[in-house]
Amino acid sequence: MIRDQETMNVLLDNVARFVRERLVPNEERVAETDEIPADIVDDMKALGLFGLTIPEQYGGLDLTMEEEVLVMFELGKTSPAFRSIIGTTVGIGSQGIVIDGTDEQKAKWLPKLASGATIASFALTEPESGSDAASLKTRAVRDGDHYVVNGTKRFITNAPQAGIFTLMARTNPDEPRASGISAFIVEADTPGISFGKRDRKMGQKGAHTCDVIFENCRVPAHNVIGGKEGVGFKTAMKVLDKGRIHIAAICVGVAQRVLDDALRYAMERKQFGQPIAEFQLIQAMLADSQTELYAARCMVLDAARKRDAGENVSTEASCAKLFASEMCGRVADRAVQIHGGAGYMADYGVERFYRDVRLFRIYEGTSQIQQIVIARNMMRAAAR
Ligand SMILES: Cc1cc2nc3c(=O)[nH]c(=O)nc-3n(C[C@H](O)[C@H](O)[C@H](O)COP(=O)(O)OP(=O)(O)OC[C@H]3O[C@@H](n4cnc5c(N)ncnc54)[C@H](O)[C@@H]3O)c2cc1C
Repeated sequence: MIRDQETMNVLLDNVARFVRERLVPNEERVAETDEIPADIVDDMKALGLFGLTIPEQYGGLDLTMEEEVLVMFELGKTSPAFRSIIGTTVGIGSQGIVIDGTDEQKAKWLPKLASGATIASFALTEPESGSDAASLKTRAVRDGDHYVVNGTKRFITNAPQAGIFTLMARTNPDEPRASGISAFIVEADTPGISFGKRDRKMGQKGAHTCDVIFENCRVPAHNVIGGKEGVGFKTAMKVLDKGRIHIAAICVGVAQRVLDDALRYAMERKQFGQPIAEFQLIQAMLADSQTELYAARCMVLDAARKRDAGENVSTEASCAKLFASEMCGRVADRAVQIHGGAGYMADYGVERFYRDVRLFRIYEGTSQIQQIVIARNMMRAAAR
């Protein structure tokens, strides 16, 4: 749902210009330094990028899902690390509070998130619990008006920068699966929290992950999201349904960028006396990429519109994330091929995207987990 087309066009123009003029020229610098310059983060704040999905009453833009994916199509046209710095605050780090938080929790945290003053991270994964997230072991034991948290969270995006975590921990040890889990807002400077070394990753330099370790960390009981124990896994799954559409939209944006670069190169590079774009085998790679990109874009928009209409989009979100992330990998692979030897060389940038996009098939549910979600939903629907 687009609430006001004119306002939306202005926002999309602003984001597209920002990507073109501020982010693209800094891609190599970020890849080399593994840092996003502070002045760029400040510009992101000024543009309102941290508040895209926060309700207007708390200072955000309150974008609908359709509006959000249109912005992500634009923001995707540069190194994914730039999206990552706002991504957890706009997405998985904040949406637990937006969707299920109490009025007090929203009033306390959302204005700080919307302005970018506080960065939010999402802490679900653990060393022994990844795809099987419901088996998580981090414990939160009630002690008066606090919970005492012990456990380790792994690969947490933006953890080194985070001001708060949306933390999933087990409050009921007798319930080993989802219904024993509660969601908490935890301030990063709470005593008992420490951080592992920054992970060294395949790509997305500038986006940081690390372990977050909780040792007898006392979290106020009023920080249980929604004030209710035992529903934290449901909150996490609602957050991830939305997050999957968001990631799928980013995949569309990145694939568009990489394909644009490959097309430009194919029209400039000459072999056998003509631009390589004239060769039908190159055209096949371009055309297959364009076709898949179009299909992914349509899926993402459809899933977003259905979510805006209040439908349950568990299947559509997984279909979109599965298809768009796999599509993005194929498009990046073909883009390297179209560049030939230059595609393997760092100076042309395409090998960086090839590495960067590999992550999309892994986090917020691997491709295999999306397939399982889709098939399970199909079987449930058939049984009804
Ligand atoms: C850069 C990065 C950033 C991340 N950021 C965050 C974050 O901010 N917050 C957070 O909580 N987590 C984060 N993660 C964790 C991420 O969500 C997990 O890595 C992912 O869910 C997979 O879990 P795993 O790594 O334990 O793999 P595993 O679950 O061990 O999976 C290994 C392989 O087995 C397959 N597999 C597992 N179960 C099945 C099954 N039932 N059927 C078929 N195949 C199966 C998987 O698809 C995969 O191919 C991040 C990860 C990375 C790499």
